[in-house]
Amino acid sequence: MPRKFVVGGNWKMNGDKNMINEIINNMKKGPLDKEVEVIIGVPSIYLTYVKSIVPDTIQVAAQNCWKVPKGAFTGEISPAMLKDIGVNWVIIGHSERRTIFHEDDTLVAEKVAHALESGMKVIACIGETLEEREAGKTEEVVFRQTQALVPAIGDKWANVVLAYEPVWAIGTGKTASPQQAQDVHASLRNWLANNVSAQVADAVRIQYGGSVTAANAVELASCADIDGFLVGGASLKPEFVNIVNATK
Ligand code: PGA
Repeated sequence: MPRKFVVGGNWKMNGDKNMINEIINNMKKGPLDKEVEVIIGVPSIYLTYVKSIVPDTIQVAAQNCWKVPKGAFTGEISPAMLKDIGVNWVIIGHSERRTIFHEDDTLVAEKVAHALESGMKVIACIGETLEEREAGKTEEVVFRQTQALVPAIGDKWANVVLAYEPVWAIGTGKTASPQQAQDVHASLRNWLANNVSAQVADAVRIQYGGSVTAANAVELASCADIDGFLVGGASLKPEFVNIVNATK
């Protein structure tokens, strides 16, 4: 079965109600390719608002969650709370969470495991830094990050999208070339075939993220192993519609 193209928007800590109205109106105007799954990652305080104004065709994700259902964890939100307000997707392990908030492979895996057990779908992010790429360690790093997720995901791969986001390409305007991205995606799929199963390797969708724009999306989308994008900066702009439609 062909993998359904999936485009996520990661708004990060951006937006206010006015800006959100503009973004959503623009997406409603679209038109968005109906064959593409669209998921927007919204700051948690605006999740309920966004849910109240988006059509069913646009899914909504949180950008983070904690690893247990409830309790004394000041400032955190749980998958149970997200589900309670109708949010079924969560982005976990974004490089900003890993770097700025010191989330390591173990914590990311615990969050992924709990979110999946709670019945959520997860966009799990991996990717190497510039230093790691220059040291020739790209594969070592993304395989290590993926390995940490394997026991956490168990048999729930159908509810996971992997996002390969080289850290040096995030918010920098430096996109991985289609060849660089395709090479990592293909190695990841090969690693999954050898370490999980051929079926998972074939079915799991791997998004590329890092300075995706309307200008580079079409070429990236034409790569065999790129099954979508996780878009930061450009997801706040009208060009997000063109990125969603990159395979049209
Ligand atoms: P960017 O961010 O598109 O602004 O580079 C991507 C991301 O962090 O998901």
